[in-house]
Amino acid sequence: MLSSPPVITIDGPAAAGKSTVGKGVAQKLGFLFFDTGALYRAVTLAALQRGVPIEDEARVEALARTIRIDLIPATQADGRPYTVLIDGQDVTWELRSDAVNAHVSTVSAYPGVRQALKAQQRRIAQQGRVVMAGRDIGTVVFPEAGLKIYLDASPEVRARRRCLEMEARGEHPDYQAVLAGVRHRDKIDSTRATAPLRIPDDAVVIHTDEMTIEQVVDRIVRLARERFRTTDGS
Ligand code: C5P
Repeated sequence: MLSSPPVITIDGPAAAGKSTVGKGVAQKLGFLFFDTGALYRAVTLAALQRGVPIEDEARVEALARTIRIDLIPATQADGRPYTVLIDGQDVTWELRSDAVNAHVSTVSAYPGVRQALKAQQRRIAQQGRVVMAGRDIGTVVFPEAGLKIYLDASPEVRARRRCLEMEARGEHPDYQAVLAGVRHRDKIDSTRATAPLRIPDDAVVIHTDEMTIEQVVDRIVRLARERFRTTDGS
């Protein structure tokens, strides 16, 4: 049995299902789910909304240090997994816009932005009983986590899943454009100098092309129960 605090990290490329799976795992174990991508998206959106040029690294970093980002339980039943506030303003859906998708990898490559957000993420993880999803959680943010998962899927499957999500929200995505976006983000996320996307040495790698969400969730929950001997009554 591991010493506490129990923390599960889920890393992997864009649209690998980290949020959906992470939320399912957290629900079953009674853990908090924390999606760190929302933090990088929030800084990107704040820059776009406030007219801060994305290329202006110093000003984007200053924003990351000063804005207040809160992830709270969903405040509306419109399919959102949680609500995100920037300085108290609900920006949950704006975070998923094309403009944010196009610029978030640039923003998340800035070392100062990563440093500012890492401190927030570590504070939350240290409380324990948390599933934290992102790109560098098991490698950089919380390397002492007791269970590390790396979720993977082919770019085509990830693009298809992203299109289905968008269709469910009433949008009309172009599959080829979504696929190009997924590949573009993969490239930037895995080649950046600071905290690039990579598989943590001690991670369990799960390839999800042929798996349903339930199967992936169940696999992780089983692993967590073995590692943490959770006392959730099951
Ligand atoms: O997971 P999501 O697609 O919301 O993440 C958006 C972007 O934020 C990623 O493409 C990546 O550039 C960045 N990110 C990161 N480190 C994390 C989480 C997200 O660099 N821990």
